[in-house]
Amino acid sequence: MTSASTDQTFSPGELTQLTPRISRLVAPNAGPMTGPGTNTYLIKGAGPNDPVTVVDPGPALEAHVVAIMNALDGRQLQAVLVTHTHRDHSPAASVLHERLGMARWGRVSHYAQFQDQTFVPDHPVDESTVVVGNGYRLRAVLTPGHASNHVCWYLEEERALFTGDHILGTVSPVILPPDGDMRDYLLSMDRLKAMPLEHLFPGHGPVLTQPARVIEGLIRHRLAREAKIVRTLRSMDDVTIAELVIVVYADVSADLHQWASYSLHAHLLKLSHEGIVEERHSRWRLLQPEILGSQV
Ligand SMILES: [Zn+2]
Repeated sequence: MTSASTDQTFSPGELTQLTPRISRLVAPNAGPMTGPGTNTYLIKGAGPNDPVTVVDPGPALEAHVVAIMNALDGRQLQAVLVTHTHRDHSPAASVLHERLGMARWGRVSHYAQFQDQTFVPDHPVDESTVVVGNGYRLRAVLTPGHASNHVCWYLEEERALFTGDHILGTVSPVILPPDGDMRDYLLSMDRLKAMPLEHLFPGHGPVLTQPARVIEGLIRHRLAREAKIVRTLRSMDDVTIAELVIVVYADVSADLHQWASYSLHAHLLKLSHEGIVEERHSRWRLLQPEILGSQV
């Protein structure tokens, strides 16, 4: 098994064998939000000619679609599973469906922003969905948060989880409200904590070992950020998100503040739901303990 420290092969178009069943192709879409590019995973059955299942076919870039078709090496593509329908994860599903006719599994979001509108699931996914190949079973684990329609896929035989953008290899995912939801994100994290996991296969970046530590670390990171928001609001009350992001995300490059603003908004909506902050005319303020007390 490739460990996080040695898993460094991210050349687009290169097929990397990660376990006897799982291999990875990286799409040629590297960038600030996609890291080295989207990871497309291929899962093969026990026999040499068994059909292949793909998780997250990635963007509809011709070079990537051709790389996926070549990686099949003459085997049939039986199914494409998507973790969610952001444009770096699912658009190649429609192209592959047109060319190869395989079934598409995934969920559709009710929000149009950032979504791949071409994705049409042949099999809408719910909590009971299991996709079966020869010698493996992939179980859907609904994990809303990064996006409302996010699904992780659990490969039972390897205790491996394909995490899409719920858990990433190197950075913490952006939560994009209103489709994304910070409360859902943390609840989905709690859900994964209870699973018997050995490896995480993220949508971007290297394979992660020690899933329990990774998950705990991500939860701590989010709660630390939330605490910083509350601390910051104590000193600069009644602020816009644009003013707040500069302080709360001072450790993040200013180029990424536009994206960080989405996660900040998601944190504020969670705090608002909990009665800790409130918004008026796009300005955010802390509900001080004495104000809360006077309402009781
Ligand atoms: Zn992504």
